[in-house]
Amino acid sequence: MLYMSNLEEKRLRRGVMALSGTNALLRSIPPMEELLHERWALEFSHALGRGQVKNIIASALDEIRRDIRGGQRPELPLPELAELRSLSLLHSQAAPSLKSAVNATGVVIHTNLGRAPLASEALAAVNAVAGTYSNLEYSPEKGEREGRNAHVEGLIRRVTGAQAALAVNNNAAAVLLALSSIAAGREVVVSNGELVEIGDSFRIPEILAFSGAKMTAAGCTNSTRISDWRNAINENTAALLKVHPSNYRIEGFTASASREELAALSRDRGLVFMEDLGSGLLSPLNVPFAAREHPVKDALAAGADIVTFSGDKLLGGPQIGVIAGSKDLIDKMGRHQLMRAVRVDKMALAAFEATLRLYLAARQAEIPVVRMIELGAGVLRRKARRLLRVLREAAAKPGASGFSFSLVETEDAVGGGAFPADALSGFGVAVSSSSRSAESLAQALRTSCIPVISTVRDGQVVLHVRTLLDGDEKRIAAAFSQAL
Ligand SMILES: *Cc1c(COP(=O)(O)O)cnc(C)c1O
Repeated sequence: MLYMSNLEEKRLRRGVMALSGTNALLRSIPPMEELLHERWALEFSHALGRGQVKNIIASALDEIRRDIRGGQRPELPLPELAELRSLSLLHSQAAPSLKSAVNATGVVIHTNLGRAPLASEALAAVNAVAGTYSNLEYSPEKGEREGRNAHVEGLIRRVTGAQAALAVNNNAAAVLLALSSIAAGREVVVSNGELVEIGDSFRIPEILAFSGAKMTAAGCTNSTRISDWRNAINENTAALLKVHPSNYRIEGFTASASREELAALSRDRGLVFMEDLGSGLLSPLNVPFAAREHPVKDALAAGADIVTFSGDKLLGGPQIGVIAGSKDLIDKMGRHQLMRAVRVDKMALAAFEATLRLYLAARQAEIPVVRMIELGAGVLRRKARRLLRVLREAAAKPGASGFSFSLVETEDAVGGGAFPADALSGFGVAVSSSSRSAESLAQALRTSCIPVISTVRDGQVVLHVRTLLDGDEKRIAAAFSQAL
């Protein structure tokens, strides 16, 4: 035994296996110590730590023992089976949970898929400060502490025309901080038509309650006139709150008070007029229905004292929330106890500063969200033709028969609660298979190494090209090959 090589030992075990009953099979499972010295185990020890590798191998071996005791005959020689089962567990443990994905849904601002992909300038800015020390809360000129908001406040003021501005963790935090600071212990009037729920349980009535303010709902679902707002005001009212009806639209017989009317009413009664804009449009988009979404600048110009909006919706930057407007109110929010709990992290701040600078340089076409929303039919059709070619090539490989591909028109969407009722017309590639359902093909694409998220329509998988980024065609082809 002393000079027996690893290979000879494995062969010997195989022999034993052939003769054996359950006990012999169990005895021929390789010992842990031996497996831990295999090259693959040493490599995974680097990524996962030896302790974790040991635990994972142990659970693979337990599983094999259980199968054998349950009467199963192993499909492979046991050393190989142990290696295979361990490797499959190790691979799934070592893969990052949060990873890049291909958005082939045509929904540009897709909250489940990470909302806004960042512009390359924003990525570079993150890279420049993430691995080093920085002047995050420090003024090198003065040699003393300075708040992190200083890096973006001037830029926000320039793009929105606001007197003052504050960046926080996201727009939900912006609304909460603003209401807590303005109206805790007092009343806030909201229109019945704007008591919205956004995404995963952000509900205006609940946020209001959480901020310590009492809600007074004015008017009806489809109609809240300025007289309704006026009648809802009493001596304990602190603010009028207008909310962007992000993810729905009320059609038919409707009436609502204009911003100018609300601004005049709140001035007249000494109240704060606050507007939660949601999507943070900084400059008009070049799309047919652009007029339905108002830029932040317009809301402030029409007399809102405070506006709040997201950094990663139409603005196209990182996850951030902005509060912009009157200096007195913003200063008070900056000193509020909640501020510390909702402050922005340095990487988001770096990405946000770089994104704002693109707007100021009139280079917003370099922001992926803006570029994808504005893509015209000609470009989209060319993109779809190219994807069609790449996929046909991938499917020309052996074993890939029975697929058919075609160029199709698609209905894309802005997403992120902007323009909820306006589709963007786009192009894509429809895939169908003679041997496989569209759902099963869509699932195979989703679960490949780089997940590809598509839509299914009329029994076909549809890959929308509007939301594809550089290199995504190759990723889709790879996912496709893997799915075959
Ligand atoms: C999206 C949205 C929010 C929440 O913003 P987050 O940045 O996702 O926290 C709040 N209000 C409105 C009107 C929205 O559209």
